Amino acid sequence: MTGFEYLEEEIRQWKQERTFRSLTELESDQASRVKIQGREVIQLSSNNYLGLTTHPRLQEAALQAVKDYGAGTGSVRTIAGTFSMHEALERKLADFKHTEAALVFQSGFTANVGVLSSILSEKDVVISDALNHASIIDGIRLTKAGRRIYKHADMDDLEKALQETQGARTRLVVTDGVFSMDGDVAPLPEIVELCEKYDALVMVDDAHASGVMGTNGRGTVDHFNLHGRVHIQVGTLSKAIGVLGGYVAGPSALRDYLIHRARPFLFSTSHPPAVTAACSAAIDVLLDEPEWVDRLWANTRLFKKGLQQLGFDTGKSETPITPVMVGNDALTHKFSDTLLEEGVYAQGIVYPTVPKGEARVRTIVTAGHSRQELEKALEAFGRAGQKLGLI
Ligand code: PMP
Repeated sequence: MTGFEYLEEEIRQWKQERTFRSLTELESDQASRVKIQGREVIQLSSNNYLGLTTHPRLQEAALQAVKDYGAGTGSVRTIAGTFSMHEALERKLADFKHTEAALVFQSGFTANVGVLSSILSEKDVVISDALNHASIIDGIRLTKAGRRIYKHADMDDLEKALQETQGARTRLVVTDGVFSMDGDVAPLPEIVELCEKYDALVMVDDAHASGVMGTNGRGTVDHFNLHGRVHIQVGTLSKAIGVLGGYVAGPSALRDYLIHRARPFLFSTSHPPAVTAACSAAIDVLLDEPEWVDRLWANTRLFKKGLQQLGFDTGKSETPITPVMVGNDALTHKFSDTLLEEGVYAQGIVYPTVPKGEARVRTIVTAGHSRQELEKALEAFGRAGQKLGLI
């Protein structure tokens, strides 16, 4: 079909630059090992932090829900698509996060977009960390509020933004809890203190901290003991929880407001029963089986130390997200391809996901990896790194 020559031209350029990528197909379930092109390889690219995608309690809950309630819900929540299990999951999430209420969205992405695009007006200002996730950026793009971006985790710059926006009705400071590409943790206690000093609201996106940090994986607010001092907590059900979805946890007024004004909530069909039941089972697993979080951190320490001992630059990561810095986009893809030949799936992350010159292979270990798998993966990193002159 003609009409897309302008896109084809750009794609041709990507191919020339060797930055064009086909999607990688998994021919197995999402676990510590996956099958790619008929070969079993060690998976180091998923967000399946606790290995819950294949946990029997989640699988059984999903199967039972399909039998009892069918495959789909047939409506948006506000018309005929709210099932008792949706409300029950939200109560469970609110208890888990120690908040008054919670509201589930179809994804973490739409949770961020939903909250940011609805609760602010031209009278308000949103102040956002420069490295926040794309869904926060897109949510901000949809508001009429004033915008300020502060330098990544720079508290002097944040304070300057707070001083310069004192005329606004509401200031909302938003940060990722754990930054998705570097694996560093936001200085949340300092952010909260500044926001208290300047009477601003705080929102944290704990997509990579829920199920990972804090007691039973309750997230960064719990990790830093900031309960009651962070106004909005966003979480995802798609990563450590092992299923799909996102949620906003906070005061009841926030939930009530979002139900009436958050467009992704209002205009998109609710989660199928299987998804909702599996998410609910996952929260039970977090509460009943804390050993998964312990295993995740033991594996993280082992793997990170191993990469550093091999001589790789792992940036400023403090969490299971460990980048292996390369710099050049094409070389990063080559590194990832070489690792795959060596039996490890670790995806390269290049511009525009990260700034030019900061391309990296991003690794994420999970609680599901055995020590033997991690040792094999480290050997593969050593061989691939030497082959390409990275170490
Ligand atoms: N926030 C952050 C920080 C993320 O890394 C992601 C996922 N890439 C999201 C939100 C979106 O979550 P979901 O995959 O559930 O849409």
